[in-house]
Amino acid sequence: MRFASLGSGSRGNATIISHGKTTVLVDCGFSARETEKRLQRIAFDASELSAIVVTHEHADHINGVRVLARKYQLPVYATAGTAGCLTADVFDLIHEFSCHETFSIADIEVTPFPVPHDAREPSQFVFSNGLHRLGLLTDLGMTTPVIEQALTLCDALLLEANHDMTMLDSGDYPDHLKYRVSGRLGHLNNVQSAKLLEKIDTSRLQHIVAMHLSEKNNSPNIVAPLFAEALNCEQSWIGLAEQETGFDWRELTTS
Ligand SMILES: [Zn+2]
Ligand SMILES: [Zn+2]
Repeated sequence: MRFASLGSGSRGNATIISHGKTTVLVDCGFSARETEKRLQRIAFDASELSAIVVTHEHADHINGVRVLARKYQLPVYATAGTAGCLTADVFDLIHEFSCHETFSIADIEVTPFPVPHDAREPSQFVFSNGLHRLGLLTDLGMTTPVIEQALTLCDALLLEANHDMTMLDSGDYPDHLKYRVSGRLGHLNNVQSAKLLEKIDTSRLQHIVAMHLSEKNNSPNIVAPLFAEALNCEQSWIGLAEQETGFDWRELTTS
């Protein structure tokens, strides 16, 4: 199983997960044209996509879903709550899933779980090929026992580290936005994410990538040492997904 990011942050998110002949695009927060361009950058053609899986309806996750899905006739997997927020002209492409039931998209098994976030029915996922498990967790205000259980013993984790509390507090966001971002239905701050890493079993971990970093209220220089301490590893091992470039293909291997 291999995976890459086309970009991550409040200006757009799209993650790609591939195994065998199946390649899933998780969220499409960029315009369809921009998504095609970014796919080219990692030597992948949009026509080879198998499906789009949508985490929730915020614009930084669904901007390009409609046009890309229509153009390539891609099935769009979404919860009923999320699907209801997509425009009517993709309804015939929608495959609704329950947040509590594993489903398959050809070679890839998808286990969704609900997350506390200010959207209609947001979910995040563990993707598996039967051999390796990749956990994706962004856009949530707090962790829950269900989330901790889902992410334990993953081989790769793509984990939100949205903001540094001090930077957010002292920054120039208006108060209502500060409350929204740091609230229980907002985004995980660096310390919350590091605590999650300490809490779950990470003994199988081959990849950790910090995701959805705020460009205004965070810095890789704060995230990397925190994650490295939580995992008791070198800082250089901590991956960071960039807003403009995401990250290039990474692969899960069997030792
Ligand atoms: Zn987001
Ligand atoms: Zn969101």
